[in-house]
Amino acid sequence: MNSSFSLLRIRVLLVSFLTLICILLPSLPCAHATSATPVGETHVAKWKGNRKAVFLLMFDDSWPSHWQVAVPELVKRGMVATFYVVPRKGEYSKFEKEWKKVVEQGMTLGNHTMTHDGFQGAEDSEMEIGGCTHYLLDFVPGKNPRLISFALPGVTDYNFGEGNSLKSLLAKHHLVDRGDFKGHGAVYHLKTTAEMIALADKAIATGGLEYLVIHGVERITPNWGYQDMWALKQDIFLPLLDQLKERMDRGDLWITDHISAHQYETERQSAKVRVVAADLRAIRLECTSEADPQFYDLPLTLQTSVPPAWQRCRVVQGAQQKEVKAVNGLVQFEALPNGGVITLQAIQ
Ligand SMILES: [Zn+2]
Repeated sequence: MNSSFSLLRIRVLLVSFLTLICILLPSLPCAHATSATPVGETHVAKWKGNRKAVFLLMFDDSWPSHWQVAVPELVKRGMVATFYVVPRKGEYSKFEKEWKKVVEQGMTLGNHTMTHDGFQGAEDSEMEIGGCTHYLLDFVPGKNPRLISFALPGVTDYNFGEGNSLKSLLAKHHLVDRGDFKGHGAVYHLKTTAEMIALADKAIATGGLEYLVIHGVERITPNWGYQDMWALKQDIFLPLLDQLKERMDRGDLWITDHISAHQYETERQSAKVRVVAADLRAIRLECTSEADPQFYDLPLTLQTSVPPAWQRCRVVQGAQQKEVKAVNGLVQFEALPNGGVITLQAIQ
């Protein structure tokens, strides 16, 4: 009886002593000092900026109405899109200078083959797919090699040659297939603003990704006396952009180019965050992903639990640093997977 009473007293004393240490040394990690979410616990956001879903606007065949009408309207609303160009098509080559401006305005170009005329054997397939890739690597500044989005032209003449396949050609040239046209074509499958915006709302409801493929856009000024193929009426196109912008501004949609969405999703699927160290003044994290860092180099959005007293903190990774606000004990920031230790430091 006596000995068990003494044992209890020792245990009580020991617990009190440990508690005292935790109070006196607040910079040490202290398991029972914080509330439910442990300091340093980090969540990788499903999409960049913790937006609910992704919506991609895609424009096919390098029609002049893209740079005449679509690009200025996208720029006005702070939106980007992917333009699938055909370098040897007259409508493109004649206006190559305009396409340079399209790139300078932040738009992304995709590979829609060199001529859009299909594939007649191995050599021709290499010219169509590889040739367009090399053209884009030269024409658009950036890393070489890098991932480029690919859209298969809507033709029926497919002969990739002996032992060759679309899959092998895409892999060889680091191309990423943008997906089927079926069910995504403006004018062709989807005719009204409401039908098109329903695609975006479907993505928001499921937390997924949706896309719309547009060919021509109605040209009012300049008046060329004719329209590009499947020209989407401006009174359908402009309200669509406005309604997409509303969803972007309220944090529901990430409107981006195909490759950025693909990179984010691929990196996130195998992303892991490890807490290297965490105390009441600083948190050190390591974010890794199995995606090849040569091609998958887009920062991910992370959300980390910080001590409740933190108002602002500095996030440092390599040469990058940024100050971010803490909201309800959580900070949100961008970090590169496999990009070295991430340090979060409280700003007093
Ligand atoms: Zn096409």
